[in-house]
Amino acid sequence: MRLLLSGHGASRGNALGRARVRQPHALEVVEQRIGANRVEGELAQLHTAIAATRDEMQALRQKLRGALAKEVGEFLDLHALLLDDPELLRGLDDLIRAGRYSADYALRLQRDKLAAVFAEMDDAYLKSRMDDLDHVIGRIHAHLHARAVDLAGVAGDILVSDNVAPSELAQLQAQGVVAIVTAAGSPLSHSAILARSLHLPLVVGAAKALQKINDGDALIVDGGNGRVVVEPGADDLREHRERLRELAREQRELDRLRGKPTRTRDGVDIVLLANAESRDDVANAHALGAAGLGLYRTEFLFLQRNELPDEEEQFHHYRDIVLGMSGRPVTIRTLDLGADKADRTGLALQGEDNPALGVRGVRLSLSHDGVFDTQLRAILRASGYGPVRILVPMVSGREEILAVRQRIRRARARLRKEGHAVAEEIALGAMIEVPAAAIAAHGLVDVVDFFSIGTNDLVQYLLAADRNNEALGELYSPLHPGVLRLLRHVIRIGEESNVPVAVCGEVAGDARFAPLLLALGLTEFSLHPDLLLEVRRAIRNSDRAALQARVDKLLQARDRAGIERWLAAV
Ligand code: PEP
Ligand code: MG
Repeated sequence: MRLLLSGHGASRGNALGRARVRQPHALEVVEQRIGANRVEGELAQLHTAIAATRDEMQALRQKLRGALAKEVGEFLDLHALLLDDPELLRGLDDLIRAGRYSADYALRLQRDKLAAVFAEMDDAYLKSRMDDLDHVIGRIHAHLHARAVDLAGVAGDILVSDNVAPSELAQLQAQGVVAIVTAAGSPLSHSAILARSLHLPLVVGAAKALQKINDGDALIVDGGNGRVVVEPGADDLREHRERLRELAREQRELDRLRGKPTRTRDGVDIVLLANAESRDDVANAHALGAAGLGLYRTEFLFLQRNELPDEEEQFHHYRDIVLGMSGRPVTIRTLDLGADKADRTGLALQGEDNPALGVRGVRLSLSHDGVFDTQLRAILRASGYGPVRILVPMVSGREEILAVRQRIRRARARLRKEGHAVAEEIALGAMIEVPAAAIAAHGLVDVVDFFSIGTNDLVQYLLAADRNNEALGELYSPLHPGVLRLLRHVIRIGEESNVPVAVCGEVAGDARFAPLLLALGLTEFSLHPDLLLEVRRAIRNSDRAALQARVDKLLQARDRAGIERWLAAV
């Protein structure tokens, strides 16, 4: 039956495909009995999943380094013991063989049985071992499900899931998945950013998706408007085809702005830089006439793999980016791992209580000398091939910038001694995304060459609203008087000190907000290349002086509605 679900558009594009539903691992598994002919297959699937879990833990164990290696290692050993527990394994086999339960459900029953034993224990420590059991069962579940997603023939599928990790996206696309719908998630998450880079339509926050969509349903996904039509009718299919034609028309219209200047109606030139995560983005940025790269997110080079990339690999990667922009400046951001960008290499700490407030960005780099120096050396070597700027993520204060400067100085001296070509001048910039750094931006102006405001995180930290938590709804929004005032403050400090200020968070790529950013005095926007022409069009339609004349009114807005009224009136 036809059904319309709505969520948030997180990556544009329209797709028609077949639903492949991936239930979350923690979800209650429904009772499922199997026929005698499926028993052996089900057992084999279960044991493959257990073996994969064992391998995964072993690999994790080998990679542990640093201060917490011992403690974390002990947990993993305990988990490995649970995996080999004859009671657990025999119980599972019996449930499948004699009980004719699906592997999923057998896992659930066995877990509940052991949970009841743990619950009876008086000892709080032993009771807490239940968490370990759940962890192990969860991993086995994950492997059972991963295989379901990996099944051959996913080309043309639309993945429906509770959430999707950045590290999964490229693989899913390579398998032929044409769109993704998630029940949770936010358009500002890193998965959403990466999906946009991959041109993979994504709707997030479609809360009912897992209940209402069945495996095999036909779906139309509109990643721009956040709409999902389940089992579309003839009218929907016609509309879908019309929408595809409309998108192509709109694109042709925007294409006319290629090569045109980004100049306001009153003649002010605005710098449009591109955000990039991949070589495709770089090619796109170049083709669309970006003035340079304002943000190259290096962590994506680290995310899709189990081993850290070495200096040579990073150097070749960064050099390709620099060469790809043929002489236009390339801003390479040092590693911003941690929080929702957890890697598989074991570098970012797992299991922090508050990962967004934890060891991420420059904090992680400064606590891993070898990893940071390798990255800096690779970036500095790439600077021999074209203009490079270095951008530091998650800066809280000047000490961090000074420490990075010193590391760069040392790495440069060593590279020169080794005979490498390194640029004389490499501008060093700070991401302004920690509120305290924004408020105290005056304390950074003499140690940085430029600022880049990361509104995605700045909004999250300023409003105490997780950028990935769909339940917070509109609470996470740049349209808050506090956010606008802080942006104005940083832009002012930059103007007064001759430190260029760009905004590289997602607001810069939203054409609706261009007048607002122009009114606040912004002259540099860094955005995903796909959005460049739209934002150029919005800027070309704006009169900067007229907008700036109304900035006081904007700053007096007391709430989101007031800001929206201001925007509606421009
Ligand atoms: C930001 O926080 O606005 C930003 C650009 O960085 P990221 O989205 O990679 O955290
Ligand atoms: Mg950020």
